[in-house]
Amino acid sequence: MEIDSLSSLERREILLTDIRNAIEVEWANPMKMNNDDAVLRSSLNLSDVDSAYARMRRFAPLLQLLFPETKANAGMIDSELIDVPKLKEALNSIHIRGDITGRLMMKMDSELPVAGSVKARGGIYEILKHTEILAVENGILDSYEDDYCKLASPEARKFFATKKIQVGSTGNLGISIGTISAALGYQAIVHMSADAKEWKKELLRSKGVEVVEYSGDYSEAVAKGREESDKDPDSYFVDDENSQELFLGYAVAAKMLKTQLIHKKIAVDKDHPLFVFIPCGVGGAPGGITFGLKQIFGEHVHCFFVEPTQAPSMLLGMVTGLFNNISVQDIGLSGQTHADGLAVGRPSGFVGEFILPFISGICTVKDKRLFNYLRILKETEDIFIEPSACAAIYGAVCMGKSAVMDEYKYDNKLGKYMANSTHIIWATGGSLVPEEEREKLLKQKG
Ligand SMILES: *Cc1c(COP(=O)(O)O)cnc(C)c1O
Repeated sequence: MEIDSLSSLERREILLTDIRNAIEVEWANPMKMNNDDAVLRSSLNLSDVDSAYARMRRFAPLLQLLFPETKANAGMIDSELIDVPKLKEALNSIHIRGDITGRLMMKMDSELPVAGSVKARGGIYEILKHTEILAVENGILDSYEDDYCKLASPEARKFFATKKIQVGSTGNLGISIGTISAALGYQAIVHMSADAKEWKKELLRSKGVEVVEYSGDYSEAVAKGREESDKDPDSYFVDDENSQELFLGYAVAAKMLKTQLIHKKIAVDKDHPLFVFIPCGVGGAPGGITFGLKQIFGEHVHCFFVEPTQAPSMLLGMVTGLFNNISVQDIGLSGQTHADGLAVGRPSGFVGEFILPFISGICTVKDKRLFNYLRILKETEDIFIEPSACAAIYGAVCMGKSAVMDEYKYDNKLGKYMANSTHIIWATGGSLVPEEEREKLLKQKG
């Protein structure tokens, strides 16, 4: 039967069956709204992103003091935006048939300072915001105009040492929260799910962070962490499943990307659409980045998430309309994937519904393909990123070759502008992966 002749209900049934069978799918979001309407109904707006950015600016001198590697970027947590022409050529080869038109670029959050993954954005932001409130309330800072380097003084550290920060994580959020919290002098406790890699736990312990291990998945680690933290009035819990602060920290990326695009003279307008592909776990990082980009570039930016076929939690929540009230385990999927940063069975409690009117679509990818991309990227551009981040590469491939995406381009009247388009693969993590782990990953087949 022709796809066109199927009703939307039938299409949804077929899609859900494929999702349940862990088949790779592409979904163009039928609930995406006209951008002006989406912005109007949204409870957050550009001024929230601006104030998050301003907060990061206030802390920039302190970050340079605590993490000298941030000096190169004046204490701001950001990464390079680079062209990846050789990757594009390889993806368009007869083996992969990506058919990517326009300029292919990569946003190198895999190299972000402090935490080596996109979690540096959200995680550091949330801890700094919490710190600012504590410091002003307790007279460590006189005001928001005070010298924030005071926060590294022995008196300040003595105060923070009486406070706890806790978080549940599959690994990278733990590294981000644990590292910044320990650097400020807090007692940091990271609750790690079974998916978390051993080297991530060792790295945290080496920084004086307490690591608590669970045999269950990410949702269990978060639930246990939340429970422990709630018992203690001096403990603050970073709640990846509900945090608006993490979300806004991620959204700041959009402001910095805008500046980079201007410097590179890359236009984003009706004639020059921008496509962005972001790996999705619980949804905070891709949701926040999408939210920021949509506030800035409106209908000219098209944001797609990519999830593993065994953990398509955001897609399942959106397609069923049940958001965080359904998990991938409920439909018989394992939630397990080598893309450990995306091994999430249930999406964030607020991101799904919040981002629904803004997001263009979601595609799912098999682990086997991720390892293939990991090798291709290394061979063509000499860049290493972790398996989770490789999911974004599949987004760019999908855009070129899937019937669903062709329909999206047609519906959005993008066809004749594709040659002028820019595609950004959001490389979400990788720089902290130890050498011997890289060797193993580069050999892995799936
Ligand atoms: C956490 C993570 C993501 C996804 O972020 P969510 O906020 O969980 O959706 C993607 N890639 C990497 C490497 C990550 O660590």
